[in-house]
Amino acid sequence: MAQNNGRTAEATLADGTKIQYVIKDNPPRGGMKYTYFAPDKSYVVQFYNDPSVTNDINLRKRIEAIIGKYNPTLPEQKGGARGNSETMAQYFAGKFCWPTAIVVQPEFGIVSPAYPSNFFFGENASVIPELNKDMKGKDKKSKWFTSPKLRKYLKESELGDFRSMLQMSISLARSVRRMHQAGLAHSDLSCNNVLIDPPTGGCVVIDIDSLVVPGLYPPEVMGTTGYIAPEVLETTKFPFGDPKRILPSSYTDLHALAVLIYEYLLLRHPLVGPKFYSNDPVEDDFLSMGPKALFIEHPKDHSNRPKDLRVTIKDLGSELESLFLRAFVNGLHSPDDRPTAMEWEKALVRSWDLLHPCENPKCREKWFIMHDISNPVCPFCGTRVKKEDVLRLTLKSQIRGKTGQWIKSGEITVYHNMPLFKWHVYANTFPDEKTDRDLMAYICKQNGQWLLINYNINGMTSPQGNLVPQGKAVLLSNGAVFRMSGDPNGLLVEVSCGK
Ligand SMILES: [Zn+2]
Repeated sequence: MAQNNGRTAEATLADGTKIQYVIKDNPPRGGMKYTYFAPDKSYVVQFYNDPSVTNDINLRKRIEAIIGKYNPTLPEQKGGARGNSETMAQYFAGKFCWPTAIVVQPEFGIVSPAYPSNFFFGENASVIPELNKDMKGKDKKSKWFTSPKLRKYLKESELGDFRSMLQMSISLARSVRRMHQAGLAHSDLSCNNVLIDPPTGGCVVIDIDSLVVPGLYPPEVMGTTGYIAPEVLETTKFPFGDPKRILPSSYTDLHALAVLIYEYLLLRHPLVGPKFYSNDPVEDDFLSMGPKALFIEHPKDHSNRPKDLRVTIKDLGSELESLFLRAFVNGLHSPDDRPTAMEWEKALVRSWDLLHPCENPKCREKWFIMHDISNPVCPFCGTRVKKEDVLRLTLKSQIRGKTGQWIKSGEITVYHNMPLFKWHVYANTFPDEKTDRDLMAYICKQNGQWLLINYNINGMTSPQGNLVPQGKAVLLSNGAVFRMSGDPNGLLVEVSCGK
């Protein structure tokens, strides 16, 4: 047996290229495929558990479309998605593990890039020394970090904090938005198919080959328990092909996306509460995730609400609260009402601007969303922020064609050394895959005064109307109003201090 461990084999790709892979006993095996690594581990070659898929013309057509015209990780010039630039392709190459080629020999399979090493557990991830050997090299599936049972096994250095969980939520919302923009649906978005690395805030979507591609026969996937949309679960009794059977789509992705974001931010499942539906555990699961699914934070029906809910959606600010209510109250059994991935992305990015470091050095979550400056308290540990450290900038943009008329376009809660980027300076700029992350200005506290320092902006003016050149600062005092830039798109800033 041991002799065949580590034998190099050769695969032929659809374009005739030959590549190497290393055959091992008991290769890692998922629900659909098993995986061999390249000799240098830079890519993986995956074959299907069920070899009869070789004859499945639909699967092959779908994977060709995924690798080619729908591929957001490849520039349009090189055969990738329409409108995709080199920068955008590079951005999304780090966010998806997108297949790159079809294998035709020795049998049908796919080639994908290997995930970066930070998405595998290292040697010392667990607090239980005996577990480390087993965990080493395992994928960092989201569930390790969001299941209270599994989290207990991990060292604190693996767990990240609230800010890194918010960063991963933004990244995931953006990746799903990109797929949906192209008309694609993931169909099996779950804690197993999104790998996360809390210490770096990284997030990568895997198992792309089960995507639903426009105009092509959908894959026969069910989804993963806990992430399957209620309407899909309710109709599994009908066979595939029956019009009554609801199949995975972008609407069902939006259910799974909301579940994952809720789990990342609040470290619990939004539908798993104390409510009991049936003595039969299978029936209980079916009812609690399907026809009878009930949000644990339902504002009126408290029958599924855990007793010990300390931090709730209210602590995330009104914007995220209203999206969660849409996803899990109105939209739970009504797919049209679910927030889109773009809505999540925008709301999460705006919430990022309200992050504030907790002043309690022992606080587990380290950051929180300071949505209410009249009550600036960390919801995780209860520490109140000192009055002199509460400062909000309200950003306003000029109404087109109406000089001197401004509407609110955003809010920033400042902290020492906070960086500001293009989207904090100009209207109509959004932090997405197209926007650069060059530093434009930063906030700092010096001798008890809050300053905004111009690093790279032309035409910033002080509250008194004087030009603020690069390297100089604006004093942020209560009630001060100034222009970030003299550009017609330059935002107006109003300063409010804590009371
Ligand atoms: Zn705290």
